[in-house]
Amino acid sequence: MRERSSRVNPVNPSEEVFTQLHIGLDDVDATVGGCTTHATYLLLKELLSKFRTDFQLIDYPNLVRLNPAVPYKTRGNGAVVIRSVVRKDIINEVIRETTEFVSKYVNSLGFRPGTEPGIAAVIGVVPESLRKLYLKALTDYVPRNYLMSLIKETTKNTEVILPYGLSRGVTGALAGIGWPEGVDCTYELLAYRKELSSCRPRCVDPESIKEMDQLFREETFLNYDYLSRRELITPHGPDPVLLGIRGEDPATLINAYSTLRVCEEVSGYAIFRTNQGTDAHHVLRDAGRIRPYQTGCIKASVASKPKNLMGGTSVIELGSGGRLYAAFFKEAGLSKVVNSLLPGDLVMVCGTCHLWEGLGRVIHAEKLVIESLINYKLMNPRCPKCGARMKSAGRGKGWKCPKCGYRAKDLEKEKVPIKRSVDVGTYLPPESSFKHLMKPLRRYGKEKKCSYVRPAEGWIK
Ligand code: ATP
Repeated sequence: MRERSSRVNPVNPSEEVFTQLHIGLDDVDATVGGCTTHATYLLLKELLSKFRTDFQLIDYPNLVRLNPAVPYKTRGNGAVVIRSVVRKDIINEVIRETTEFVSKYVNSLGFRPGTEPGIAAVIGVVPESLRKLYLKALTDYVPRNYLMSLIKETTKNTEVILPYGLSRGVTGALAGIGWPEGVDCTYELLAYRKELSSCRPRCVDPESIKEMDQLFREETFLNYDYLSRRELITPHGPDPVLLGIRGEDPATLINAYSTLRVCEEVSGYAIFRTNQGTDAHHVLRDAGRIRPYQTGCIKASVASKPKNLMGGTSVIELGSGGRLYAAFFKEAGLSKVVNSLLPGDLVMVCGTCHLWEGLGRVIHAEKLVIESLINYKLMNPRCPKCGARMKSAGRGKGWKCPKCGYRAKDLEKEKVPIKRSVDVGTYLPPESSFKHLMKPLRRYGKEKKCSYVRPAEGWIK
């Protein structure tokens, strides 16, 4: 038996004996099965029962979503972080247990082309440099040399351990650790299947999902899409997640879960604190500067009439001092609104930037905010003599009336009021096509400033 000190108050552990330990995990999955949150769920059960009061969580495990435009992601580009205070003399043991556990987990998944699991451990308080990495990994592509110089800077004052070396997963693992306090957050209760890697559809009574949504609609989101009549809490792939209920606080999630009628065997659940549903990646960017792989919002005026491409995609050009377009795919269901825009309307488009052959930079839109609409169109002036609409008499030569021949040099174009078929406001896609970070309408006004929170009773089963 290992010795445990009875001198240490587990609620307020002394700094000489205890220290913070933040462990980030990423890429612990495969397209054929597994999931980083599931590995974390199993690992935490092991660590908590083995180390007891020597290893205490200072926060719910974090599920930190990063840039949805990075090419390597398997599904939702999510990293997981375990934040704890541990006895200093067991740090190495905790990290060894973690590493052995992750190795066993990924080996059990078999062939995993294109994945490179990452583990990062930070001892002590999270340094500012990792906050910077989080923001970069959330909103941009992190090149290897950037990561390397950031690690060099971080390790000047902070102990960082990378048990697998500088694998690709380290980017997400370290960036996840850098997710700061003081920003908006939500929670997700993730329940896991007993039968792992099963391709059989999840068995949760759809009626009970709708009932749960009605009962908890103020504090939960993305449960059910009433438009397409689709359940949103159950994924469809071969991963071990049975369902995920997203919401504002852990207690509500446990209550909501207890109302569901689940008709397959469940191995258990855990609650994660996350940046999902917060629009955290929608940083304001300059239209002339946004680059491919970056996320963000551009405020600009519509530069020309919207165009419709094959497949139902609508494209608008944004006035930006450089060619920049925004594409709204059919699934976003925003074509009608987008096609009603006119040159001169002021919009904000949020999404991820991609490079299209022939067009250049294109924002794949996740959200459209119409800030102002022009309410007139400019028309040639009317003839002061006969009232007919005048024509240009040639460059710099003023106007000429086609009816009576009257000529004038100093007439201004006329502002003719127009009726618009669209209103200013925020336009979002249907919930069935939401990506993890996108903030649903239901969350507007519910933003909060979050800190680390010691998990409450019943957070893991
Ligand atoms: P799951 O959701 O099941 O965990 P995933 O979609 O999150 O799967 P990952 O397995 O996490 O996909 O793979 C994403 C990979 O991309 C990781 O190796 C991560 O370190 C890396 N990565 C994440 N964000 C960035 C970024 N902004 N720039 C470069 N690499 C990144």
